[in-house]
Amino acid sequence: MNKKIALLAGDGIGPEVMAQAVRVLDKVAAKFNHTFAYTEALVGGAAYDVHKEHLPQTTIDICNQSDAVLFGSVGGPVDKQHEEKWANCEAKSILALRKAFSFNINLRQMALFSEISSLSPLRHELLKNGLDIVIFRELIGDVYFGEHTLTEKDGQRFAFDSGSYTEEQIRSIADYAFNVARKRKKQLISVDKANVMAMSKLWRQVVSEVAKNYPDVEYSDMLVDNCAMQIIKNPAQFDVILTSNLFGDILSDELSVLSGSVGMMPSASFSASGLALYEPAGGSAPDIAGKDIANPIAQILSASLMLAYSFNMLDEANAVNNAVKQTIIDGYRTGDIMTNSTHEIKVGTTEFTNQVINRL
Ligand code: NAD
Repeated sequence: MNKKIALLAGDGIGPEVMAQAVRVLDKVAAKFNHTFAYTEALVGGAAYDVHKEHLPQTTIDICNQSDAVLFGSVGGPVDKQHEEKWANCEAKSILALRKAFSFNINLRQMALFSEISSLSPLRHELLKNGLDIVIFRELIGDVYFGEHTLTEKDGQRFAFDSGSYTEEQIRSIADYAFNVARKRKKQLISVDKANVMAMSKLWRQVVSEVAKNYPDVEYSDMLVDNCAMQIIKNPAQFDVILTSNLFGDILSDELSVLSGSVGMMPSASFSASGLALYEPAGGSAPDIAGKDIANPIAQILSASLMLAYSFNMLDEANAVNNAVKQTIIDGYRTGDIMTNSTHEIKVGTTEFTNQVINRL
């Protein structure tokens, strides 16, 4: 197969880990007889240096001409956020991309390998078989896109937020999530607050209607407060979680902590147009940029999600996932996932990827 991939490496560790993901993709192409054509495009502070804007039209055009977008990360050091180059860099890059391509569905994949379970804040007994959870978060509805008012009323400060969902917005992500659940353990838990909120009542109605089209998927509903507890008490019960924008924002961060390092979690954003963007869930980590010590796993697994979801290359994606897993089982670790057990071998970004490629 021939595929065109837009590479938006961005800032900080973005270019370093992107280079490693490309090396892995090159190995996949050679092994499975595919051709991947890459086009690099600027985004974030790197784009600002050249174009004085964070998401230039040339970058949007390159994404439009590609079969998928592989994104690194954007943003500058915390103490430089006041500079024009870095101020709201994430919003001007990522939110602008979401808007430009109407990405309405976000997926984050949390995989915790049992070999590094001691990095997780949870007890080992809860994690002894590892974890593999996918969370779907709706991206364009809910309170993030409503009215926000902070004012005074009747002599005291008063705040008001509004949010909304249409049934079509809910149906679109529910369909996507059930399809993915069908290809995994055939189990989906939809999370809402239907005992209080109208948006959640509609959410539950529409999700249960969509569920009827997927009788092979075991579906249940869970209230968000209970879900937040269950993720800590018994995370292994989850396979696919489906939820709205606000709840997804919070629960996906809760899940990311369980995986031991922010450098482990890949994510994907999908739109009705079919174009998808794949990126690590973490940021640009300016504190470790340029030192060849960043964990490349989230970027490599983002490329693996791209193989599976955009190119339907399931064997290729599995090969990448297994190579990463085997590298960890064999003891190789970047600094952020060292557990101080005796058989560990500390390596840098490039060497970790060499080991993954050797196992592919
Ligand atoms: P961060 O995720 O960049 O870093 C938090 C901590 O995790 C740091 O100690 C960092 O060294 C570590 N870390 C992150 N990725 C790692 C990796 N792959 N390997 C090893 N360690 C890793 O979050 P932050 O420090 O709050 O933000 C830094 C910049 O990133 C800010 O400008 C922020 O706006 C931006 N940001 C961008 C995105 C994105 O591009 N999607 C997301 C979040 C934050």
